[in-house]
Amino acid sequence: MYDVIVIGAGPTGCSAAKELASNGYKVLLVEKMRMPRDKSCSGVLIKKSMDLVRKYFGEEVPQSVLCTPTDNRGMVFTNDKGQEYRFEQEGLNIWRSSFDHWLATKAEKAGVEVRQATAALSCEEKENYVIVQLKGDKIYCETAKIVIACDGAVSTIKRKLLGAPRNYITTYQTFCKGTIDLDYHYFYAYLQPQLSEYDAWFNVKDGYLIFGVAVKDTNTIKHYYSEFISYMSSHNNARIDDQVKTELWIMPHIMPGCPIDFGKDRVLFAGETAGFLNPMGEGISCGLESGYASAQAIQQAYIKGQEVNTQMLYSVYQANTVAVKNYMERQWRFVSSISSTFAHMK
Ligand SMILES: Cc1cc2nc3c(=O)[nH]c(=O)nc-3n(C[C@H](O)[C@H](O)[C@H](O)COP(=O)(O)OP(=O)(O)OC[C@H]3O[C@@H](n4cnc5c(N)ncnc54)[C@H](O)[C@@H]3O)c2cc1C
Repeated sequence: MYDVIVIGAGPTGCSAAKELASNGYKVLLVEKMRMPRDKSCSGVLIKKSMDLVRKYFGEEVPQSVLCTPTDNRGMVFTNDKGQEYRFEQEGLNIWRSSFDHWLATKAEKAGVEVRQATAALSCEEKENYVIVQLKGDKIYCETAKIVIACDGAVSTIKRKLLGAPRNYITTYQTFCKGTIDLDYHYFYAYLQPQLSEYDAWFNVKDGYLIFGVAVKDTNTIKHYYSEFISYMSSHNNARIDDQVKTELWIMPHIMPGCPIDFGKDRVLFAGETAGFLNPMGEGISCGLESGYASAQAIQQAYIKGQEVNTQMLYSVYQANTVAVKNYMERQWRFVSSISSTFAHMK
C-alpha cells in the first residue's frame, strides 16, 4: 500500500510527488510514456515558474533543458484592433521533454518511486483506500490511501470519475525553417478573431520558427492557420522555407470564472486535470503550484498510520489554491479587457 499514487509526470505530478516523498510519504509516480517524452508546448518558463522551481526543487533550472534563445524577455499581445501590449519580464526558453524529465529525476532523488511506460486506467474507491488499475507490460493493480490525478487535459481518470469531459481547445503548431522580422526573445500572441478561435502565437526555439493557432472546431484549423501565416507574411515579413514538424494537442478551454474540479473522494485532481491554466495558455506555473498545494493538503489531512480526513483534505486544498485561482481570474479580466474574442465568451 502506497500513501499516495500520483498519476502523470508533468510539472504538476512531479511537484506533488517530490513534496510528499521529501516529507516521508511512500509515493508512486506513474507516467504512461517513457521519459524524456514530448509535450506540445511553447516552452516559455515565466519568472513565476522559475521561482517555483527554485522553491520546490531547491535548484535553478539547468542549462541542459534550455533551447536558444535561452532567455525569454517577455510577451507581446496584439488585440483584435491590432494594438500591441508589450510585457517585459525575465523568463526561460525550455524544451518540455528535457525539463519534465529533469523534474521527474529530482522527484526520484527525493524518494519517489517513478514507474515509466505505465498508464493508469482507472481508480476504484474502497472504504479507506483506492485501487489504481495500471497498464505496463501487463494490467495489474496498486493501492494507495490517496491518489492525485495529474494526467493533463485529457485525463482518463477524471473522465471516468466525473463523466463527460469539459470544453477543450485544440492547438496546432508548426516548426518551420525560414525568416521573420520579429525579436526571437519574445513570445507573440495574437487575439484577432480572424486568425483563430482563441489565440494564435509565434515563438522561436533552436532556430525553428513556431506558428500556432488554437481552435474550438478542428475542421477550421487549416483555414485559421493559413490566415495566420498570411498575416505574419504581410505584417512581419515571415518567409517559410521548410515546414519540419507539426503538432496537434488539446488544452482545457478556460471559461470566465475559471471553474476548478478539485477531485472526487480520495482522488484529488491537480494541474490541467483540475482546470488550473492561465487563460492565455500559460500552465506550468499553475501546475507546479497546484501540485504542491495538493501535496501540502495531504500532509495536513493524512498523518501516516491514521485515517485520512477527506473533509480537511478538500478544505485545505481549496484554501491553498486561492492565490493561483485569483491569478487566473486576473488574467481572464485582462484578456477580456483587450480582446472581444474573450469578452464575448460565455
Ligand atoms: C501548444 C501549447 C503551448 C503551451 N505553451 C506553454 C508555455 O509556453 N508556458 C507554459 O507555462 N505553459 C504552456 N502550455 C500549457 C502547459 O503545457 C500545461 O498547462 C502544463 O503542461 C500542464 O501540466 P500538467 O502536469 O498538469 O500536465 P501535462 O504536462 O500534460 O502532464 C501530464 C502527464 O501525464 C501523463 N499521462 C497522461 N495520461 C496518463 C495516464 N492515464 N497514466 C499515466 N500518465 C498519464 C502524460 O504523458 C504527461 O506526462 C502550453 C500548452 C499547449 C498545448
